[in-house]
Amino acid sequence: MFHSFDTLVIGSGLSGLSAAIEASKYGSVAVIAKLYPTRCHSSAAQGGIAAALGNEEPDSPEWHVYDTIKGSDYLADQDAVRTMCEDAVGTVIGLEHLGVPFSRTPGGKIAQRRFGGHTREFGSAAVRRACYCADRTGLAIVTTLYEQGQSRDIRFFPEFHVLDVLMEGNRCLGAAAIEIRTGQVCAFTARATILATGGYGRVFRTTSNAIQSTGDLPAILLEKGLPLEDMEFFQFHPTGLYGLGILVTEGARGEGGILVNGEGERFMERYAPHIKDLAPRDMVSRAIITEIREGRGVNGKDLVYLDLRAVPAKTLSERLPEIMNFCRTYMGVDPAVSPIPVVPTAHYAMGGIPTDRDGRVLENETGVAAHGLFAAGECACVSVHGANRLGCNSLLDTVVFGRRTGEAAGKIKDMPGAFSEKEKLLEPAKNMLSEIFGRRGDEKAGAVKKDLQELMMHRCSVFRNEAGLKEAMRGIEELKERARHISVSDRGKRFNTEVLDAIELGRLIDLAQTIAGSALERKESRGAHSREDYPERDDKNWLKHSFVFKRQGALEFRYKPVTIAGFPPKKREY
Ligand SMILES: Cc1cc2nc3c(=O)[nH]c(=O)nc-3n(C[C@H](O)[C@H](O)[C@H](O)COP(=O)(O)OP(=O)(O)OC[C@H]3O[C@@H](n4cnc5c(N)ncnc54)[C@H](O)[C@@H]3O)c2cc1C
Repeated sequence: MFHSFDTLVIGSGLSGLSAAIEASKYGSVAVIAKLYPTRCHSSAAQGGIAAALGNEEPDSPEWHVYDTIKGSDYLADQDAVRTMCEDAVGTVIGLEHLGVPFSRTPGGKIAQRRFGGHTREFGSAAVRRACYCADRTGLAIVTTLYEQGQSRDIRFFPEFHVLDVLMEGNRCLGAAAIEIRTGQVCAFTARATILATGGYGRVFRTTSNAIQSTGDLPAILLEKGLPLEDMEFFQFHPTGLYGLGILVTEGARGEGGILVNGEGERFMERYAPHIKDLAPRDMVSRAIITEIREGRGVNGKDLVYLDLRAVPAKTLSERLPEIMNFCRTYMGVDPAVSPIPVVPTAHYAMGGIPTDRDGRVLENETGVAAHGLFAAGECACVSVHGANRLGCNSLLDTVVFGRRTGEAAGKIKDMPGAFSEKEKLLEPAKNMLSEIFGRRGDEKAGAVKKDLQELMMHRCSVFRNEAGLKEAMRGIEELKERARHISVSDRGKRFNTEVLDAIELGRLIDLAQTIAGSALERKESRGAHSREDYPERDDKNWLKHSFVFKRQGALEFRYKPVTIAGFPPKKREY
C-alpha cells in the first residue's frame, strides 16, 4: 500500500499534533502513531506547562530564560532557550484559545504553581510559573489538539508502527510502516517528514515512561549514519512510586509537599538551603540516592518519603486528584494520612536527534541539515534542556518547537522523485520482518529486555563511574548477541505484537549503547550526568555537546560548541 501526503508526521504526542496543525496550513498532512493517537505519552503529563504569565505573582520571560540555562547546567544552547521562553506566554494563551481547560485563580485567570528550579529575580525565591489542568495537564492539551486536528486536513493512521525512514542520500522521502491490524507494510511518501516519537525511558528498569517509549526513530537514524546528540544526559525524576516507578508530579512539592528521610529529617535543607525541595531534579535525585546510600533510607529500605500531610485536603483533591488515586490504588496509601514511599525514576531524555530551531535534522556537528527530514519534541535535541531539564519545560518545548517545525516542514515545496521502483522502497522493512520470522533461537524478547533494563539501572543511572560504564558496554554487547537469537512463536500477521516487541528491543539496545558510550566518554559531572570518578563540572574541556555516530558497528564521537548568549557558566547554587 502506498500513501502520499505533503507532510508526514510520525507520532501523535504534543509535538506531533502541534506540528501537524501548523503544517496543515500549507497542505495535506498524515499523522502516524503506533498506538491510538490520544494514548501518546504526552497524555500522562501531570504537573503543567511553564510560562511567565505572572498571573499569581510578578514573573518575567527573562527570569525563565535564566532558570532554564542554569537548570541545564549551562549546556543548553542559549539562543534556543530564549526562543522557547519568550514564546511561552503566547503559546499558553494560544492553547487557552484553542480550548484547553486550564485550572483557574479565584479571579478567573490561568492558575499557576511552583515547580523545581523556576525562580524569580534570577534565583532569589521559587516562583509560580507552571500552568496546569489539575494534575492531568497533558491529557487536557492532547485531547484539545486532537480535536483541533480533526477539523483540519489531517489524516490520522492509528496503530501503524514505523519500521524504516526512507532516505536517498541526504534527502528524506518518507517512511515505511507496518499496519498492526493486518501486518501489511505500507509506504508513506511526503515532501517533508517530521519525527515526533517521544522518549526512551524504557531503557531503564524503573521508569515513569509508557511501555511504548522505546526510541524507535532515533535508533533508526543512528543506523542510517546520522548522529544523536548529548545521549549521556538522562533525567531521573526524584519521586517515582517505590517499586513501580509511576510518577508523582513535582507539582506535589510545588503545592507544599516535602521529602523526608528515615530519620524524619527534611534533608533537602542541607543540599539546597534556599529552595530546598524545589531544587532541580538532578540535585534532588542525587540527594535521595545519597541519603539511601548513607543508611538514611526509610526502615532500611531503598526509599524516602514524600510527605503531603501539611497540604490542605481541598488542594489535594482539587489540584492533585490523579496522584491521590495512584497512591491509593497502587500503594494502598492515602497521602492525606500517610507519607508516600518514593525513589528516583528514569523520566526524560535530554539527548536525541540534533536539530536547528526549526526542527531540521542535522547531519553532523557542523550543522548541515538533511533535506525534508525534521524532528521535534522529546526525541529531538534542540538543545533547550542541556544537561538537565526543568519541570514543565518539556510540554512547552513540544508545543513551541512542534509548531515551528510544522511551519518549516509545510513550506517545503519540492516533491521527492516519481518512484518508478516503488516496491523497492519497502524492501528493507520487509527484509527485517522476514529475518525475525526466520530466526530459530531460544531467547525471548521479554527476558533480554529485563536484563538490559537491570544493567542500565545498576551501571548507568543517577551515579556513574568508569568501571560500571565499561561493564555496561560489555553487557550490552552480550545482550546484542542474545537478541540475535530471539525467535517468535506467533507466526501470524495480524496484531503480531511479539514481532514488534523484538524490534523495539533492538532499538532500546542500540540507544542504551549510545547512552553508556557517551557517558563513558564524558569525563566530568554536569546536570544529570554524575561521574563519581570525575565529580566536578569541567567547563574548560567539556562545555560542549557530544555527537555520537555509528560507523561499521562502532561508536564514534564528535563535539559541538555550546551557544552562550548572555549567561556565561557559573557555579550552580540553589
Ligand atoms: C508520567 C510523565 C509525566 C510528565 N509530566 C510532565 C509535565 O507535567 N510537564 C512537562 O513539561 N513534561 C512532562 N513530562 C514530559 C513530557 O510529557 C514528554 O516529554 C512529552 O509529552 C513528549 O511529547 P512528544 O510529543 O515528544 O512524544 P510522546 O507524547 O511520547 O508521543 C510519541 C508518539 O510517537 C509515536 N511513536 C513512537 N514510536 C513510533 C513508531 N515506531 N511508529 C509510529 N509511531 C511511533 C507514539 O505512538 C506516540 O504517538 C512527563 C512525562 C511523563 C512520562
